[in-house]
Amino acid sequence: LTAADVALLRAEFPYFAAQDALDHAPAYLDAAATSQRPLRVLDAERTFLESSYAAVHRGTSVAVGSATEAFEGARSAVARFVGAAAPEQIVWAENATDALNLVALGMGEATAGLGVAGSERFRLEAGDEILITEAEHHANLIPWQRLAQRTGATLRHIPVRPDGTWTLDDTREALTERTRVFAFAHVSNVTGLLAPVAELVELARAVGAVTVLDACQSVPHLPVDFGALGVDFAAFSGHKMLGPNGIGVLYGRPEMLAALPPARTGGSAITKVTMESAQFMPAPHRFEPGTQPVSQAVGLAAAVSFLEEIGMDRVAAREHELVERLVAGILDAPGLQLLGPADTSRRVALAAVSVAGVHAHDVGQYLDEQGVLVRVGHHCAQPLHRALGITSSTRASVHVTTTEDEVDRFVDALRGAQRYFGADVTA
Ligand code: PMP
Repeated sequence: LTAADVALLRAEFPYFAAQDALDHAPAYLDAAATSQRPLRVLDAERTFLESSYAAVHRGTSVAVGSATEAFEGARSAVARFVGAAAPEQIVWAENATDALNLVALGMGEATAGLGVAGSERFRLEAGDEILITEAEHHANLIPWQRLAQRTGATLRHIPVRPDGTWTLDDTREALTERTRVFAFAHVSNVTGLLAPVAELVELARAVGAVTVLDACQSVPHLPVDFGALGVDFAAFSGHKMLGPNGIGVLYGRPEMLAALPPARTGGSAITKVTMESAQFMPAPHRFEPGTQPVSQAVGLAAAVSFLEEIGMDRVAAREHELVERLVAGILDAPGLQLLGPADTSRRVALAAVSVAGVHAHDVGQYLDEQGVLVRVGHHCAQPLHRALGITSSTRASVHVTTTEDEVDRFVDALRGAQRYFGADVTA
């Protein structure tokens, strides 16, 4: 993408169009936390709400039929986008956190004997192991902690190396015959580390472990084909991929979704209910009791079409250029510790730094004053920060609308913060 292409793309985002009209437009470098939305996403939701909104999957009216068509059409669009063979492999959730919880809680239900046909495969017992990495977002850590506590299984983790990375070899060492679940991020939200998913899935499958991929930071930035990667489950959020918030996705292989018990129950996910018991619908509806995020699904489909029009290969290539510039700028500045791989071929869409001698919140406040919008703190990855010997960091993240100038302003502002706070820049 050329600078002119990026300018045209930015013009499609009301947020950037308004900012770009200002003299001192802020640099929005927080897409990893949440992304801005193009007009067509906002319009898709609004138009749907204004003209087609009705109680999806409830009733027989023509209006309900067309709203249901839009809702299910969105499911098909998302399925195609992530390489699911069928729309039934896409379950709507509130966000990625919710989607990951659906899997962990579902396994808890299976262990409690509250299963559906085939749920035995998810039953855990003392001695069974759940494997994650030390780099996980809390959303892919705490649900597994709770599952382990509930079932007596042991939660184990792959420790990170001094640069925050972990490898296939580390995984080979950590997997055992007792590993029943292996959950990991496709791309870390702190180190940007890209995991070799297909190879990891192969290792996990060899010991019979179910794989759960946190794809929050990959689906918005890379061409992702869950079918080809072979993962059993994957989770991501609409609001990080130029889509609405209030919607997330759980992807599952058909035989996995067929056997996973519903963690939440209620209306419209059932076939037959008596005063004593309920029978559940097949996936995906079994996991979608209650009124669903309908306009958000329609908005998410619009975000998918926006990304598809650009082409995810081009999105990835553009973001890669930006990340190379970001990492080079950080490595060039004394006193800045880059978290994660310096090799940018292993890194996607973001870079976090620790500024020697300056607390991340001070850095964040200084950057904010300079109009550089980033995320500071532990980014919901406390164990990873602890392993790296720090409590917090400052993260810049890009999307396809990010400019070189914004990246440069981040690096300049970090240097400014070092001067302002009298940081040691000899290291
Ligand atoms: N996993 C990763 C890697 C993330 O970056 C995030 C969002 N920061 C989440 C999970 C949770 O996403 P959400 O807040 O949308 O549920």
